[in-house]
Amino acid sequence: MIHRYRLVVPFATALVGSAFAATAAADEVNLYSARHYDSDEKLYELFTEQTGIKVNLLEGDSDQLIERIKREGVASPADVMMTVDAGRLWRAEQEGIFQGIESDVLNERLPEAMRHPEGQWFGFSQRVRAIFYNPENIDPSEITSYEDLTDPRWEGEVCIRSSNNIYNQSLLASMIDHHGVEGAEEWAQGIVNNMARQPEGGDTDQIRAVAAGECNLAVANHYYYVRLINSDDAADREVTEKVNILFPNQDDRGIHVNVGGAGVVEGAPNRENAIRFLEFLASDEAQEIFAGANYEYPVVEGVKMDETLESWGELNKDEINVSVLGGNNPEAIRIFDRVGWR
Ligand code: FE
Repeated sequence: MIHRYRLVVPFATALVGSAFAATAAADEVNLYSARHYDSDEKLYELFTEQTGIKVNLLEGDSDQLIERIKREGVASPADVMMTVDAGRLWRAEQEGIFQGIESDVLNERLPEAMRHPEGQWFGFSQRVRAIFYNPENIDPSEITSYEDLTDPRWEGEVCIRSSNNIYNQSLLASMIDHHGVEGAEEWAQGIVNNMARQPEGGDTDQIRAVAAGECNLAVANHYYYVRLINSDDAADREVTEKVNILFPNQDDRGIHVNVGGAGVVEGAPNRENAIRFLEFLASDEAQEIFAGANYEYPVVEGVKMDETLESWGELNKDEINVSVLGGNNPEAIRIFDRVGWR
């Protein structure tokens, strides 16, 4: 059994005091997680089985967890913080949440692009930001890159969510790295010019909008599409029959990749256990569960992945170090403001 707590109330009225002890216990690790998948429970149980270390889990959204760790200060029991998107990991880093760690296991198991240069955090699963299209109106050979989406011929055809979403911020951050600020701004302006509607809804809504005929092209993370494919609801599966996925930039830098990741918290009372937990996440067995929970790509080579992902074959992925996405985040937000991407 793992101890599980959930932050569901606004901060001022959140749990008074700490859910866990801030003192080191030989056999525990306190995990603050912005991930909440049912299969994660299996993951923690497996860790306990292998190491005898008990996992205490506090779930909340990323900003809540950061705020909480800051508020708890030196008394914080947090050992590991786990969240999704390099932009969010970077925010946590900026707030001084993480400490740098050295681990031969992580250095060996994880590709370099999945490791923060100072070991502040590590990527344990990958999601790609794909392009979706209506196959009745679009010949996929006409769109081979994110850049193609800005072609004036697609005016009024592109559905994409708002710029306050971290996924778009990280995508634009990658554009800054590849094209410079000016090039990235031109791209963002081109997307705004081609929008079918003012941004609304989440990633799934963009895919649904293609099926509904509101636009012929959309941008969304791949796993939202796989969720629809595997949905119990026939209407969801029908959406995926009307919408195809394509993977941009396969002939140049590769598709934009983001991560689910984790780091050891500054002042972690159970530092050694925290490192063991991260090392565990890099094991074959844990990788399969961690990535599989959300139809994501494992970061360790050769680990079994979801059958839909398997069917898509090997992808050419942008190998930009994920810490760059965070570093370019403030500039990306300024560009969105300048081009009027709401
Ligand atoms: Fe998501």
